[in-house]
Amino acid sequence: RFISFEGTEGVGKTTAIEQLCVRLQAAGIDCLRTREPGGSPFAERLRKILLDPATDINDDTELLLMFAARCDHMQQVILPALQRGSWVICDRFTDSTIAYQGFARAHGDSVALTKIESLIEQFIPQLPELTLWLDLPVLEGMARAGKRSAADRFEQQATDFFNRVYAGFSALAAEHPERIQRIDASGTADEVSARIWQVVTTQFEM
Ligand code: C5P
Ligand code: MG
Repeated sequence: RFISFEGTEGVGKTTAIEQLCVRLQAAGIDCLRTREPGGSPFAERLRKILLDPATDINDDTELLLMFAARCDHMQQVILPALQRGSWVICDRFTDSTIAYQGFARAHGDSVALTKIESLIEQFIPQLPELTLWLDLPVLEGMARAGKRSAADRFEQQATDFFNRVYAGFSALAAEHPERIQRIDASGTADEVSARIWQVVTTQFEM
């Protein structure tokens, strides 16, 4: 099984993924936790560059680096894990590219969105079967994320950038209602984790 988690900054993806993996392992399921951009040694090197506030690149370069990272991650880590029967739980995947590089960077421009869709089609052989969109108002997430360490190149953006990211995720959820499940990400980590477990066990008839 291949599951991705999506959402704007500070929605609690990392904690939610940790808790899902604990539950899966307790149910006897092998589970690989990974993340994007990154997840393989080479993609983690690209992640450093992508998140470094000193990196000065144009939007197309950013998009292609995201896909270079994803391509390596897919080939080196995700596909081999799925082949040996492990579940793969990925912190962000293609929907983040549509939301961040498409809706936010490119303001939802249809040419930009078409480019991203064709990159997905040509380079990404497998999409997640289930995507959990952790839905939290942008400002609440930013307040949560603000309590962490220094902002990366994306976290330095203004609120309207994240409002466009959010609009991207809601549009995607409406477009792919069978794959993308919206999870209310408000409340405590345990409450969110219980909501996620409910969706996962129902979806996969566990
Ligand atoms: O999930 P996390 O916050 O660790 O992601 C790292 C950063 O990369 C985020 O700030 C996110 O905004 C950004 N990102 C992006 N485009 C993607 C994936 C992540 O801008 N396709
Ligand atoms: Mg972040």
